[in-house]
Amino acid sequence: QRTAPIRTAVITGATSERGIGMTVADRYARDGWAVVILDLDGERAAQVAAEIGERHGVPHFGFAANVADEDAVAAAQAAVQAEVEAGRLPVVGGLANIAGITSPVPFLETDLALWNKVMAVNATGTYLVTKAFLPAMLEAGWGRIVNMSSVSAQRGGGVFGKVPYSAAKAAILGFTKALAREIASSGVTVNSVTPGAVDTNIRVGATAESEAKLAADIPLGRVASTEEIAAVFSFLSSEDAAYLQGTNIDINGASHLH
Ligand code: NAD
Repeated sequence: QRTAPIRTAVITGATSERGIGMTVADRYARDGWAVVILDLDGERAAQVAAEIGERHGVPHFGFAANVADEDAVAAAQAAVQAEVEAGRLPVVGGLANIAGITSPVPFLETDLALWNKVMAVNATGTYLVTKAFLPAMLEAGWGRIVNMSSVSAQRGGGVFGKVPYSAAKAAILGFTKALAREIASSGVTVNSVTPGAVDTNIRVGATAESEAKLAADIPLGRVASTEEIAAVFSFLSSEDAAYLQGTNIDINGASHLH
């Protein structure tokens, strides 16, 4: 663990109460990173970043960004860059692409709008935010990008999210590998994680019964905690993970072994 923050980590999708992103942001701050939170509601993003930053004594910044909107992402990147240039944030060295939405709608009941929305937030969002923040990392010759996929991409849904979600999360795996190969020796690593079910509010419409069944179907006997996901983001973003490039890490309680 570092004693002073030397770089900034940008985390998308980190304002949801009980969400993975908020726990990841807290973990980065605990590890010594300055934290930037990008989420739909800018005020809330700033508030959550401040709570986390003050808890761990690291610089913090929050800004509104719909990750699927190129102009919004550009504005957020410019705002972060201005903070860096003003000396209020260290240079950006970490990016966790976590913003995502799921959908349990069966295939024939989906429409193009739903498909486009799920693809836009998960896949296009990862593309746009990475494209915005990668140049500074390449310039610095050091960076850690961690992309949020899902076991759904590997085993064909089956947890909650169906076809559009599975397809979008699979796109993130391909994106991660191709970008990692392209910039392999740059000092910037790009990896992904594929969690199984995690204890958050993302499964909108889930019942106590469906959640109990979900847990019972996992060999470990329970869903993952957000802290258990954050620990892997922390490792993949550490100095120690320099030789992991284009790798994916499963975090699924033995629910999908392959
Ligand atoms: P969540 O719904 O609690 O949080 C999602 C966050 O993303 C929220 O802060 C939300 O405001 C933000 N967000 C949504 N759309 C956005 C947009 N267009 N632009 C910017 N921010 C946006 O979800 P969670 O359970 O914490 O999941 C986080 C990520 O982990 C998602 O990508 C999800 O697909 C993935 N994941 C979750 C699980 C699980 O079981 N919870 C399992 C595997 C993967």
